[in-house]
Amino acid sequence: MKIFRKRNFFALAIPVLLISAYPEITHVNKGESESIGSVRNGELKNGYLLPYKGSNFSYFSPLSYYLMDNGYTHSTLYKVVSEAYQESEKTCPGIDFKIMQSTDRNGGRLFFHRTHQNGYGIDFMIPTVNRRGEQIKAFDWIGMWHYLINFDEYGYNEIFGSVRLDFETISKHIIAVDDAARRNGLRIRKILIKTQLIDELYATTAGREIQRRRIFIPTRLPHIVNQVHDDHYHIDFEER
Ligand SMILES: [Zn+2]
Repeated sequence: MKIFRKRNFFALAIPVLLISAYPEITHVNKGESESIGSVRNGELKNGYLLPYKGSNFSYFSPLSYYLMDNGYTHSTLYKVVSEAYQESEKTCPGIDFKIMQSTDRNGGRLFFHRTHQNGYGIDFMIPTVNRRGEQIKAFDWIGMWHYLINFDEYGYNEIFGSVRLDFETISKHIIAVDDAARRNGLRIRKILIKTQLIDELYATTAGREIQRRRIFIPTRLPHIVNQVHDDHYHIDFEER
């Protein structure tokens, strides 16, 4: 009886999963995307689907990617993201990066976010390191729950105190993203990261370059927005 029920469940769940994932499984990136409106109130036409996995990065959640259709982006930003990861293979060798959410297939409202609507906003997970500076992937498998884990103002995890945000890597990645954006006719409009972490970011070599380039990182954010940007940084782009 139990086996029968289990079979029934899978008989129903597998087609539902396949139907939900069908747009991603069959998607082909071609032509150019069109971004309408703003990151707060916008749409995305002919969005590009980010790769689920590349040589030094992957998307953080199959649920978000395949079932919620959140892995799309503007075609130009797609190029920026890809080129920045290629550059990061040289500047951050051995680091496995993770993309968190970008934009829904047709843009518009995205679960858990006020922005991300027109294909020009994306969340990048902050890699974590142990006391020896080696990357640890303790939280990489938790998918959407990642947004809920907390780090203190120095970047240490509030439960596992030996796990720290890797500010060296984030700052190098931001420089690679900024370089790629300039090459492709975009500019970084702003970067959201928990304001208490900005000092740690600027203390790195690449962080000083972020400051020199005057890349806008707001030092005041509404409380709830500030709270959630401790495990990832959000970047908004605009056309030059
Ligand atoms: Zn975001």
